[in-house]
Amino acid sequence: MTTFARRRFTSIGWSLVKERRCARFQTRALHVKATEFLQNNQPDWTESMHEVREAVSKICSRYTDEYWLEKDNKHEFPLDLHRDLAKDGWLGICMPQEYGGSALGISEATVMMQTISESGGGMTGASSVHMNIFGLEPVVKFGSPEQKERMLVPLIQGKEKSCFGVTEPNTGLDTLKLQSLAQKQGDHYVLSGSKIWTSTAQIAEKILILVRTTPLDQVNKPTQGLSLFYTDLDRSVVQVTEIPKLGRAAVDSNVIFFENWKVSREDLIGEEGNGFKMIMHGMNAERILVGAEALGLGYAALRRAAIYAQERSVFGRPIGKNQGIQHPLAESWMKLEAARLMLYLAARLYDQGHSTGEYANAGKYLAAEAAFEACERSVLTHGGMGYAKEYHVERYFREAMLPRIAPISREMIFNYIAERVLGLDRSY
Ligand SMILES: Cc1cc2nc3c(=O)[nH]c(=O)nc-3n(C[C@H](O)[C@H](O)[C@H](O)COP(=O)(O)OP(=O)(O)OC[C@H]3O[C@@H](n4cnc5c(N)ncnc54)[C@H](O)[C@@H]3O)c2cc1C
Repeated sequence: MTTFARRRFTSIGWSLVKERRCARFQTRALHVKATEFLQNNQPDWTESMHEVREAVSKICSRYTDEYWLEKDNKHEFPLDLHRDLAKDGWLGICMPQEYGGSALGISEATVMMQTISESGGGMTGASSVHMNIFGLEPVVKFGSPEQKERMLVPLIQGKEKSCFGVTEPNTGLDTLKLQSLAQKQGDHYVLSGSKIWTSTAQIAEKILILVRTTPLDQVNKPTQGLSLFYTDLDRSVVQVTEIPKLGRAAVDSNVIFFENWKVSREDLIGEEGNGFKMIMHGMNAERILVGAEALGLGYAALRRAAIYAQERSVFGRPIGKNQGIQHPLAESWMKLEAARLMLYLAARLYDQGHSTGEYANAGKYLAAEAAFEACERSVLTHGGMGYAKEYHVERYFREAMLPRIAPISREMIFNYIAERVLGLDRSY
């Protein structure tokens, strides 16, 4: 290499190094302050994820913390948010385009749910549309073209709302033992039984419901004989009773009883007896989404804590100057970010067609725990005001229990990892 060439290389090389340093610097600067509202610069997101974040943020910023406080106090479903998201097509984010959806991936839906929650909507905002995002996946995957047209289109347009009935009072997490029955009679089935915790049943027109069509003692495997229906929630025969509960008051959860409920055969999804397989299909995606909702809540709590810590002065200085306040919040940010990375990895793997049980479960667990801790620390940072509704973090704290319990409990996630990842014997 001549001296000239070396010099030239050196100068090109140097400018590349400078560029890279600059890029590195920009990457570092991408992690903006936790006090910023709905930041949109995660370096690990794709362009379409950024677009979703920006658009959904814009809608959500119209819904203030005061709005969510009022909805919580009045136990009023946030119909306005549901309507606004439907108007701009967001209720069909993962649904096929031919039925009005956007056919985006779980990665984009994860951004959407995190954003709704992080905006201050928390689990209330997220739960108001949660069912739309992936709840009808069994219809998408196993429904006939006629069913897809009839069921998906009004849901995506926001003209119909739906709820999901799996959990039962007597069987809990042991879904295969569920006791609700459907008997075939001519061109319809007759359903009888009960469900518990069915969310949004007070306002839903439709229900996706899992019942037994063949009694447990007549099937070869307990996973057989369960069938899935998507049908009208016929209030003339279905009794819906709201459960008073800890948090998320604006989005109801209910006990439902039904007897002699005639459901058309046209509302059976896929093959009779194959319902459990169909429900399992969307399970990992749902865990990822619930994890994202928890994350959003955790970030919202952290944002409020960091802002309050700078504003509140005691002993002549902001409380945020004390390491006793700073360190727990710093640790919470790290835990939320770690959970976020695992959840988005799970989402990406899911979109690439991998089975992501380990990462979906672990991501949901980590996000729910990190969110709960962030909410608790946010309440403590606020001192007495953390206990007052006016500062919103008590609402976040109450809601933060939910992703730890549903749709799958912490203990069942541990069981899953112990068996599937560590190869240990089933303990139950
Ligand atoms: C607000 C809210 C909304 C909900 N919305 C819906 C909905 O829309 N639709 C729906 O179908 N369901 C819904 N659920 C139900 C939810 O999915 C269940 O509550 C959850 O799956 C736990 O089931 P369970 O309450 O029956 O607990 P149980 O099965 O009674 O378990 C109780 C406890 O025992 C533990 N446990 C049980 N078995 C084992 C074991 N083998 N090893 C270790 N620990 C074990 C569990 O982890 C749990 O901590 C909702 C729940 C809540 C709280």
